[in-house]
Order: sequence, then structure tokens, then C-alpha cells
Amino acid sequence: METVLVVGAGQSGFGVATSLRDKGFDGRVVLIGDEPGLPYQRPPLSKGYLAGTAGDAQLRLRPEDFFAEKSIELIPGRVASVDRDGAKVVLEDGSAHEYDHLVLATGAVNRVLPVPGSTLDGVFTLRTKDEADVLRAALESAENVVVVGGGFIGLEFAAHAGRPVTIVEAQDRLMARVATPEVSACFAALHEGAGHTILLGKGVSALRGEGRVTEVELSDGSLLPADLVLVGVGVEPRTLLAEEAGLAVANGVVVDEHLRTSDPKISAVGDCANFPCVQAGTATRLESVQNAVDQARAAAAVITGEPAPYESLPWFWTDQLGAKLQIAGILTGAEKTVVTGDREGGKFSVLSFRDGVLAGVESVNRPPDHIAARRLFAADPAPRFETLEANGFDLKATFA
Ligand code: FAD
Repeated sequence: METVLVVGAGQSGFGVATSLRDKGFDGRVVLIGDEPGLPYQRPPLSKGYLAGTAGDAQLRLRPEDFFAEKSIELIPGRVASVDRDGAKVVLEDGSAHEYDHLVLATGAVNRVLPVPGSTLDGVFTLRTKDEADVLRAALESAENVVVVGGGFIGLEFAAHAGRPVTIVEAQDRLMARVATPEVSACFAALHEGAGHTILLGKGVSALRGEGRVTEVELSDGSLLPADLVLVGVGVEPRTLLAEEAGLAVANGVVVDEHLRTSDPKISAVGDCANFPCVQAGTATRLESVQNAVDQARAAAAVITGEPAPYESLPWFWTDQLGAKLQIAGILTGAEKTVVTGDREGGKFSVLSFRDGVLAGVESVNRPPDHIAARRLFAADPAPRFETLEANGFDLKATFA
């Protein structure tokens, strides 16, 4: 293998390039990215970078000389098409680059709110450093801030915006897609305690204003004054390149357990990949640093001839208002939960069980529980309810 070409210089594309070098791959590694500057990580964008406590240096995944040292070629530009017959990609500027193996690490784009007024000035989304810069500047003069979407991004933005905001969520609780009701309630109390207003079960029907947003119209007809609106209503995988190249696409680029697409010379990793997830028991697309980093490593292993099925345990974290939530495993479909620790004191864990087996553990301000959960899953991917019950639901005692 001579040239591995990676499209997308984000968390997972960067991870593929570095993992290849870590594994001793001595061919060309070419990383093509359409964002300006060096590869960077996104989590601080809605946390310290937004609050002004983290700068460019904290965002950067590695300094500039790292890429020269590792012989990773960084090419700025957007890949416009993949020519599978010719084994090359073509950039928007018309230049072509050949590959022996291609990795799609194209990430995702923020969903646009499908209502009138969604492109008015003063309406923002948050995915890139450029967007964070604009948002940070806009926050300085904003009076009435409305967050549409009570998921991770919206809540982290609210937590780090430095002023009271109004959070509008269509579901009947915060983080409903990814957290249990116990954790949702804890974070709702935290946000209310910080002075934020939370409106649950309310959709947004329009954003109003002449050129610039001045009001958010809710599904019940009520109006909220707003001069800054942050829309955090999820993402869509960036799959256009794959689709146009004739690869299988369904809620992401479809890959097998080795992260290979329907063309064995092309892999896909990170937010854009829909993979057979062992823990979920179904094809899944995950949006997390863990998934991006671990899939990058697994794809590099395939390319360097050491393929192993991708089975890494999903885990995730979010920081809001001094509280750290860490999640290990996949909670979807769980029918039973057990709370351990001090719920009133805001230091607790929720164990979720699916079909009598531990499926996921959420830990709020309990990092040792999170570590114990990951160790437990490593020792036994399917710990049974009865086993945990016999140990008083003590995760550490169960794997020790
Ligand atoms: P990305 O990081 O999005 O990288 C994809 C890159 O490919 C982008 O730079 C894109 O511009 C580029 N690209 C796409 N198409 C082309 C093309 N045709 N040509 C060239 N380049 C292209 N996860 C956590 O686990 N914990 C957190 O606390 C957390 N916080 C987050 C906060 C924010 C604000 C955001 C946005 C995400 C957060 N995440 C967090 C999620 C995590 O950052 C993502 O899951 C991760 O970045 C995915 O990596 P990726 O490489 O798949 O995609």
C-alpha cells in the first residue's frame, strides 16, 4: 500500500493519519480538509472556548511541526468527487489526488430548523471554530438569548453563555434522546438554578424579524423576544460524496464490522459512518470523540493488515454548570433503571438494563463509577441484573 488518502481533517480523519504512523505505516498519508487551519477538536467549542477560558492552543489537536515530523501531508480544500475506477479524488479546484486506500471522515453538518426565518441574522448553529468565533462575538451584545433544542449542544451553550437564556425543547424533558429521566431532571434543576428558563414540549413554528431575528414564535402561538438564537437540533451525516460515488448510504455511509464501505478500498469512520454496533445490537451512527478516535484506530489497523472487528465500548461526556455527565454503553431500549449514590446531592449513577443485561451507565459527578463501568464492560460485555443486584449494584465490586 503506497498512499492512504483521508477526506476530512477532523477528529477521526486526524486519528486515522496518526494511527497509521503509530502502526508503522510508511507510505504516503494525505489528509484533505475543507476547514481553515490545523485539525482541531470540537468539544471545547461549546465549553471553554465559548466561555473564553480556552484558546486556539487548547483546540488544536497537534502543533504544526507534528505533521511534518510524522510526514502527514495536509492539503486544504474540499473534495468534490470520488472517482472509484480511477482510484482518485477530485477537489473543487480541479486538482486530483490518487489513492490506494481512501478513508471518508467527513463528519456531519448541523440540521437547519425547518421553519420560516431560520436564515435571519442573529440565528446561529455551532459546529465549527468559525461558527464559535462569530457566536462568541454576538454573545457580547445580545440581550435576549434563546436556545432551540435541549440536547447536549444547546445545553452546553446555555451553560457557558455567561447569562440567563431561554431553552425551548420539543420533547417533555431535556436530553431525551440520550439520557434517562433521572439525569434529565438533574440537569433541568441545574439550568433552572443558574437562572435559565426551560420550556418543555414546545416546538418552534417561526423565527421572526426584518433581516434580523427579533422573536421566536412557539407552536402554541406565544412569542419570545430574541436577538440571538442558537439552534441545536441535531446533525445530518455528510454523505454526498459517498452517495455520488455509488457507495451504500443509509443514515450515514454504511460500513461493515471492519469499517469498510461497499467498496473494500474505501473505509468510513466517525460521525459519518453507520456501523454494526455490538452494544446497540443494530446498525448505528454515533457522534462522539470516543467513536471518532476508536474507529480511526480500527480503520488504520485494517489498512495495515491487522483487521479486527470494531467492538469498542461507546462512551461520552458533557460538562454543564459544574456538573460532569459521563455515559458508558448505549441506553436505547432500556426498560429498567437503578439509581446509586447521592441523587439529591447531585453525585449519582443510573444503571440502565435492557433484557436483564446492563446496557449503559450514566454517572453524574461520579468519575470513579464511569471508570468502573468501562472496566466492568471490558471484563464482561453483558453483566446480568442479578449479578449486579447481588453486589448491591456496586460496579467496582462486580468486576473485581
Ligand atoms: P468532524 O470532526 O466533523 O470532522 C469532519 C471534517 O471533514 C470537517 O472538518 C469537515 O469540514 C470535513 N469535510 C467534510 N466533507 C469534506 C470534503 N468533501 N472535503 C474536505 N473536507 C471535508 N463529543 C464528545 O464525545 N464529547 C463532547 O463533549 C463533545 N462536544 C462537542 C461539542 C461541539 C460544539 C460539537 C460540534 C461536537 C462535540 N462532540 C463531543 C462531538 C465530536 O466532536 C464529534 O463526534 C467528532 O468531532 C466527530 O469527528 P469526525 O472526524 O467524524 O467529524
